[in-house]
Order: sequence, then structure tokens, then C-alpha cells
Amino acid sequence: PDDDSPGSAGEARSEELGDPLVELVDVNKHFGELHVLQDINLTVRRGEVLVVIGPSGSGKSTLCRAINRLETIDTGEIRIDGEALPEEGRALARLRSDVGMVFQAFNLFAHKTILENVTLGPTKVRREKSKAAKERALGLLDRVGVKNQAGKMPAQLSGGQQQRVAIARALAMQPKVMLFDEPTSALDPEMINEVLDVMVALAKEGMTMIVVTHEMGFARKAANRVVFMSDGQIVEEAHPEEFFTAPRSERAKDFLSKIL
Ligand code: ADP
Ligand code: MG
Repeated sequence: PDDDSPGSAGEARSEELGDPLVELVDVNKHFGELHVLQDINLTVRRGEVLVVIGPSGSGKSTLCRAINRLETIDTGEIRIDGEALPEEGRALARLRSDVGMVFQAFNLFAHKTILENVTLGPTKVRREKSKAAKERALGLLDRVGVKNQAGKMPAQLSGGQQQRVAIARALAMQPKVMLFDEPTSALDPEMINEVLDVMVALAKEGMTMIVVTHEMGFARKAANRVVFMSDGQIVEEAHPEEFFTAPRSERAKDFLSKIL
């Protein structure tokens, strides 16, 4: 049965999924001899939360970076909201701003305040008026629980707080989809949940999300679907509950036996 275990956000939302928002069609990518993405076909629908899981080196980050065109692909096509990713120029900048990205390492601008970190994109790239950008930024900082840190510098914040600012900064660009590449793996354990809670809330609000993470709790609470990658391939796709309790492939079984 594919409609069991009620109660998770993903479960509740799976009925409401919209049209395809991120589409990868026969995507291939090499780094020299290494075939890092092998015939990847993947569709993420509007409102869907997809968790990507898999061993280190399996191509998860490359997949994320390709979606944002921080990496080029060799063959295949990537479409965001029906439009093929352009090669370069203004069209690429616009499409890229549809895709918010949060990385593993806190990559805030070290010499800007928390507030400036969030207003910079909207004012410089989207030409928003600074007063409006500031008001919206404060709203976003409030939403991720760090509004009272707005005047501080990144180094004065904990890792968990910095990562929540990074989420606010990405949201400030009003993306259609958010990519998270192991957003909690550099955090001290006690800070992981404060970041995951923000992500779960975002999922419940209906944000389309692609999340590379090994946090099973997050996957179970928020994901509609889990994709398991190994050696550049999508080996398995399943509902989170099904994937974690009854993985089908040997590679997934082996991987889960190591992380659980
Ligand atoms: P994951 O995020 O699943 O750990 P990555 O996508 O980072 O995997 O990397 C997949 C493989 O590609 C790894 O073997 C890695 O060493 C290699 N790789 C990643 N980036 C580059 C690069 N810029 N040049 C060459 N090899 C790379
Ligand atoms: Mg990675």
C-alpha cells in the first residue's frame, strides 16, 4: 500500500501537489573520467518536498549545483517552471533567482550585518527599495526566530542561528523552489533541530523543497518522497516511511545499515 502511516506533513500535502516545477530529463555530467550524474530523470512538483539521500560522493551536491547552474551538465535538460535553464546572461540570473539555495557551510557575508545579508539580494538583484526590503527582511528574520539579532555580525551568532539567517536570505529572493544541501551537517547536535524546525514549517507552508539530508526525522515529518542516490544514479524512489523501513535495493539497505 502506498497510502499508509497518516500524520506526516508530507502525507497531508501529497494530495495538493501541483504541476512540475523542477524537471531533469536524461541529465548526464562527467568530471573527467567520473560519470557523476548518470541519466538522471527527476520531476519535482509544485509544493513537493523531496529528500535526496545517499553516500558521500554519490553526486547529491552536483545534482543541486546543476539545478542552480553552478555546474554545467554534459547532456540532457533541466527545466525550472517549464523553462530550460539558460546558458548565461540575464535570463540565467532571473531563473537562478527562482531557486533559493542553502549550503552546508554557513556562507553569510562576514562583513555585513545579519539584516544586510538578507536585504542585499533584493536591493541589488531585484532592485527593491531599501525600506521595503528592510521591512520584508525583518519579517523573514522574525519567521526564522532571529529578528533580535538583525544588527549583529554573522560571527556573533551561533551556527544554528547563522543557518537560519541563510534560509531567510534565500527566501528574501522569493524563490519558487528551495534547495538545501546538507544544511545541518556542519552544526553542533544541539542546533540541528532549530534549523530543521524552520524547514519543517516552510514545508508545511507549501514551499517546494529539494533537501539533501540524512536526517530521517525531517524526511519522515516533511517529505513527500525520498530519492536514494548512489554512484551518480537514482537507485530508488519511495515514500519516506517505506524507504526507511523497507528499502528495496541492496545499496540502500547497505547505506541505511551504516547510518541508522
Ligand atoms: P555528494 O554530495 O553526494 O557527496 P558530490 O556531488 O559532491 O557528492 O561529488 C560526487 C563526485 O564528484 C565525488 O567523487 C567528487 O569527488 C566529485 N567531484 C565533485 N565536484 C568535483 C569537481 N569540481 N571536480 C572534480 N570532481 C568533482
Ligand atoms: Mg555533498
